[in-house]
Amino acid sequence: MPVYEYTCMDCKKVVSLLIRRIGDDVQPACPECGGTDVHRLISSFAFHQSQVSKFEQLDPKYEKMVDAANPDLSFESLVKKYKLDRPNSKREE
Ligand SMILES: [Zn+2]
Repeated sequence: MPVYEYTCMDCKKVVSLLIRRIGDDVQPACPECGGTDVHRLISSFAFHQSQVSKFEQLDPKYEKMVDAANPDLSFESLVKKYKLDRPNSKREE
């Protein structure tokens, strides 16, 4: 029989429950308080692995998008592009 971790919304405890049948109509009950408002948890290991794979897939694409949209956003580049180093050149007397 598979063992699943559940969190009980009544006593806020995480409990391990034996599930006799998948798709059982009977709501599993909390062994601590007997409450039936329990929600199955995704294992932390599986959650961690999925997060890592998402980052590995997202990161290279994101870097390329940033590079394409902003080829050079360095301070020196912007100063030269908009001539910010000579803001008052027309007013010089
Ligand atoms: Zn409980």
